[in-house]
Order: sequence, then C-alpha cells, then structure tokens
Amino acid sequence: MLLNDKVAVITGAASARGLGFATARLFAEQGARVAILDLDADAAAAAAAQLGDQHLGLAADVTNEHQVQQAIAEVINRYGRIDVLVNNAGITQPLKLMEIAQNNYDAVLDVSLRGTLLASQAVIPTMRAQGSGSIVCISSVSAQRGGGIFGGPHYSAAKAGVLGLAKAMARELGPDNIRVNAITPGLIQTDITAGKLTDEMRRNILAGIPLNRLGDALDVARAALFLGSDLSSYSTGITLDVNGGMLIH
Ligand code: NAD
Repeated sequence: MLLNDKVAVITGAASARGLGFATARLFAEQGARVAILDLDADAAAAAAAQLGDQHLGLAADVTNEHQVQQAIAEVINRYGRIDVLVNNAGITQPLKLMEIAQNNYDAVLDVSLRGTLLASQAVIPTMRAQGSGSIVCISSVSAQRGGGIFGGPHYSAAKAGVLGLAKAMARELGPDNIRVNAITPGLIQTDITAGKLTDEMRRNILAGIPLNRLGDALDVARAALFLGSDLSSYSTGITLDVNGGMLIH
C-alpha cells in the first residue's frame, strides 16, 4: 500500500461524486487515515464514516482562516501528523467576462485561491517539523486554455492563480522536503458539471478529446495518489494534466 501510516487532509471532499471524495476513498484504500474538510459538519462526518471509523470529517470553510486553523489543529490532535494535503475545494460559475460582479469574483477566487493558501499555511508548520510532506493543488485545464466549459474567466484566473501559488510554494518549501504539485483536470463528471451537459455539448467536447471519453473522479484520484505518495518523490512544482489529451501541445 502506498500510503501506509500516512495522514491525509482533503478539502471539499464530502461531495459523493466529487474528486475530493474519490481521492479520500483511494487514499483510505492505500492505508491512509483521511480527514475530510467541507462546509457542512454532518456531510463531512458522513463521508468520513463511509471510509471506516479511523477517518475524520470536519467542518471548515476554506476561505475562513480561523475555521481552517481549528480543523487542522483537530487533525493533529487526533493523528499527531499530516503527510498529505489535497487542496481540492473549489466552486465555479458559468459567467461571461462582463457579467462578473465583485461578489462573483470574491466567491470563486476565495474558495480556490485563498483556500489553497490558508489550508497550506495551516499544515506547513507540522510538515516542516516532520521534515516531510506533500501538498497537491487541484487547478483546472481552464487555467491553461483560458476557459473551460463551465467556468467563467474568474474561474480560469483563480485556477491559474493556484498554479502560480503551487509553484512558488514548491520553491520555498523544497528545502524542507515538502513537495507541492498541481493537477489540471479536464472535464470530469461530478456534481460541478451535473445536469449542465447537453448531448450536443458532449459530442462537441468529445471531438476534442483523443481518449474519447469524459473523465471520472477516479482518474483524478489516481493522479493525486501519485503526487501524494512517494511514487513522485523527485517531483515538485509540476503540473500534471489529467484531461484525456484535450490539451496536447
Ligand atoms: P464538487 O462540487 O463535486 O465538489 C466540491 C466540494 O467543495 C463540495 O463538497 C463543496 O461542498 C466543497 N466546497 C465548496 N466551497 C467550499 C469551501 N468554501 N470550503 C470547503 N469546502 C468547500 O466539485 P468537483 O468537480 O469534485 O471539484 C473538485 C475540484 O476540482 C474543484 O476545485 C474544481 O474546481 C476542480 N475541477 C473540477 C473539474 C470537473 O470537471 N469536475 C475540472 C477541473 C477542476
């Protein structure tokens, strides 16, 4: 097993069909004890309980520094260490440039970008003290191609910000043996995309995907396992595309 004796924190992992929960499940199967952080305490606890009783579900809004610090303190109190952080929480809004109001900008930037900063800041002292750690940041193909399918420009900007932040953290934390990497998923079938894809849209999208299928949450979870585990021991600051070939260039 790739994560024996490891402790992993995954933000935004209570959504049953989401990338975060698929990652939590795969990490648990690989021997990790997993802390699921999400907005709703009951949903987070229920998701953790599905993985078994050694896992933890906690309420934390990743945009709220106090809540994030509290939740991470609880994880350390329970398990004594944190080996992997997956910054997965994110929201999107299908707006055009001129439709983006300040509250849209704040909401989308705050969850993906501020959330990644705050959760990383919360675990870094522990990882530094351990002399090891892996932080995995979920960005998006939308950051690379200037627009996904459902996200507006503010979403692209937030996810591009995540890429820059991840690389900067990788440089600064390398000497502490803390690796930081990013994943750029393409179109993955989760609640973020549910009900929004017409048959025509699906046909058009598939025409641009060499592997000729949309992604599954497990496709991204496997990439997170690679980056979270020692399989990627000499990789830091990388961007791992998980998009079926949508962005070959
Ligand atoms: P999802 O909506 O299924 O899950 C997102 C989770 O984040 C939910 O459980 C939600 O409650 C939680 N969340 C939202 N705001 C939060 C906050 N402030 N604090 C804590 N938790 C919060 O979405 P998903 O498709 O699983 O997306 C997961 C990540 O992957 C997101 O960052 C998303 O932008 C990114 N992504 C998704 C796709 C895709 O096609 N599904 C593609 C590229 C990137």
